[in-house]
Amino acid sequence: MPSELKMFQPTGSGDVCTYMWACAICDETETCQKDREGHSRWLVAKRMERIDYKVLIMSNKGGVGKSTVTTNLAVSLALKGYEVGICDMDIHGPNIPKMVGAEGQRLKISTSGGIIPHLAYNLKIASMSFLLQNSDDPIIWRDAYKFEFINQLLGGVEWQDLQFLLIDLPPGTGNESVTTIDLLGDVTGAVIVTTPQEVALLDSRKSVSFAKDSEIPIIGIVENMSGMECPHCHKPIEVFRKGGGEASAADMGVPFLGRIPLDPELVMQSDYGEPYALFHSDLPTADAFHELANKVEEFCKQRGSLVQVSSKSPFKRFPKASS
Ligand code: ADP
Repeated sequence: MPSELKMFQPTGSGDVCTYMWACAICDETETCQKDREGHSRWLVAKRMERIDYKVLIMSNKGGVGKSTVTTNLAVSLALKGYEVGICDMDIHGPNIPKMVGAEGQRLKISTSGGIIPHLAYNLKIASMSFLLQNSDDPIIWRDAYKFEFINQLLGGVEWQDLQFLLIDLPPGTGNESVTTIDLLGDVTGAVIVTTPQEVALLDSRKSVSFAKDSEIPIIGIVENMSGMECPHCHKPIEVFRKGGGEASAADMGVPFLGRIPLDPELVMQSDYGEPYALFHSDLPTADAFHELANKVEEFCKQRGSLVQVSSKSPFKRFPKASS
């Protein structure tokens, strides 16, 4: 087992689950005979029970601004008064902590054995970055360890009551994304981030298809780095072109959530660890994030009431392993 995961290692061996944090919140510890995988799923469901909306932030391509959108969307939702968490599932490139000025922080263990998420700007955050001794260390893990990590981030972390948990998925449609969706069971919706140029659009269409295949409701596509204003003559410059995200959304039959401009200030603020939507809340780029937050909020509330009406609860306790 990699050293990053050792602190969360179950205490027992074999098939029987002995996650200490699982036992702490289980009301059947005396009689519990769940197998480890069954217990992992049960534990994730138990944690997720207390979270109203689980929103995936996805892109099929790296570097399109997925973590930037996640951070600023989280801040905008928090400004509306919601309790918000960010689960940074990007194992190989965990950037969220840097964007909220929490680089170098370590996750702590509570008295009941769960993982306490890091609190920054009133957001609860869990990330691989908090487990690394050195941020330059590459993560070279086999799939079994990735499963363990994803399981711990969703089930081991004491998220408590949240209205929104934003899950920043790694780029692509690989194992981490599939495992996360499988463990979550119920996802409120997905926001797909793209940039306007052709190659990125091609990738965003793959994300749409992936979400549709996984039966995840699509909140919509957001076009990031969508044109900028020249700081000297104030004329628009379309560095990566403009409007492709909207065309792609129309073509794929999914909602378009708006454009976020290419803004050098956004890069600086992210590098300083100060979320733009909070520190420049009244500027146009922040408005784009606030507008995105309005649309995500509206979608989730509508879907939440639909789920309530159909009294469909995806969070079922997993059956006990036969004794
Ligand atoms: P991803 O999570 O998709 O890999 P990031 O959010 O880490 O992408 O963003 C990659 C880089 O692009 C970062 O340096 C970030 O500050 C920058 N960036 C993201 N969105 C914008 C934007 N709208 N304008 C300017 N720079 C941006």
